Amino acid sequence: MSDRSQERRARRRRRQRRNRGIKRAIGVCAAGIILITGGVFLYNGVINRDGPTPDMVEGVTADVCYHDITLKWEPARKASGYYIYGGMAGDQELTRLGQVEGADACSFEMDDYTRDQEYVFQVRAYGENAMTKNRTEGDPSEEITAGYDSSRYAQKIPVLTYHDLVPKGYDIVNGLTVPEDVFEAQMQYLKDEGYRTLSLDELYQWYKGKLELPVKSCAVTFDDGAYEIYYLAYPILKRNDQYATEFCIGHHLDEVGENTAPYTPEDGIARRYGTDVLEEMRTDYPKFACESHTYNMHKRIDGYKPVNKLTYEEMLEDFQKNEKFGFHYLAYPWGASNKDMRKAAKVSGYKLAFGYGPFRYARRTDNQFNIRRIKVSAYYSMDTFIKMVDGTWEEESEKE
Ligand SMILES: [Zn+2]
Repeated sequence: MSDRSQERRARRRRRQRRNRGIKRAIGVCAAGIILITGGVFLYNGVINRDGPTPDMVEGVTADVCYHDITLKWEPARKASGYYIYGGMAGDQELTRLGQVEGADACSFEMDDYTRDQEYVFQVRAYGENAMTKNRTEGDPSEEITAGYDSSRYAQKIPVLTYHDLVPKGYDIVNGLTVPEDVFEAQMQYLKDEGYRTLSLDELYQWYKGKLELPVKSCAVTFDDGAYEIYYLAYPILKRNDQYATEFCIGHHLDEVGENTAPYTPEDGIARRYGTDVLEEMRTDYPKFACESHTYNMHKRIDGYKPVNKLTYEEMLEDFQKNEKFGFHYLAYPWGASNKDMRKAAKVSGYKLAFGYGPFRYARRTDNQFNIRRIKVSAYYSMDTFIKMVDGTWEEESEKE
């Protein structure tokens, strides 16, 4: 049943109930008896047209999320609905902001509130008496003060990007390979310091202004689907109960198929994992997510990055080939995107798409299809890592 027809039925039921009550009351009135009946208050043989007075509204709470404030309260007896009043803290007069109908309709959502400004709200119940002139409002609830205190929540989030790990004692192949023990120490630091590692769904909700996150929040991501991530990073994350995301290249998953090679550290960074590992991780430890690094746009075409060679339609086609893996998030190869690529990502239904350099914190003001990340290099010290996650790390300028 649609909301509207439900509402119509409820209104009709209320009207019928009211009419029945009045008829009964009039009958009793003729007999001159004082009686409360059917929701109409009767005394001295006269119908009190004010109807029943609803109770005061109690238990009002305010959920504040970015620009949104949602008030909730307990149902008040004899209420037919509620008026919501509000104003800036310190205002003498509160103004009516809106109305909800129905005794059990106990929430009211407001948006576009200014951050770091305090507001005051009241909820007043009204009774079943659209016919009365004077008495339309119940006693106000106690005033509740609410506002968004930006210092309490994350305003920017480090989305850390790793590529590959090498086992302890092995040479760093390049700046993108982080030694296993360094990675382990970094994850341990996050755990010990109470950092919340985020799923990308949480990051998305935060980006949309639907979720507030603690100041100590960060996301851990990997690019390319190197099999060391499964053999070395995955066990550490699982042991620590941390969220992380790897962006995989679809055609590598197909190429390796269900035959991920057993781990041999000497093989270097060229090895990828296949669909067997993808499925295993999704079942075994869903906090580790695999997402899209495109199907096959990570290989240069005549020396050019595909983003600079392919048409919009070809990009869409590439994304379609990745659909079978059930990805919802995308990281562009080399972090490179253009208007066509971002449009293709949007049209393909990705919730967020990530860039790479210049390295910055992710913000709610970022382009939804070009969210910023921060590279973690093998050459960064623990001090640098700490600065990256605590928000004091210096961002790279836009001019790269
Ligand atoms: Zn990559």
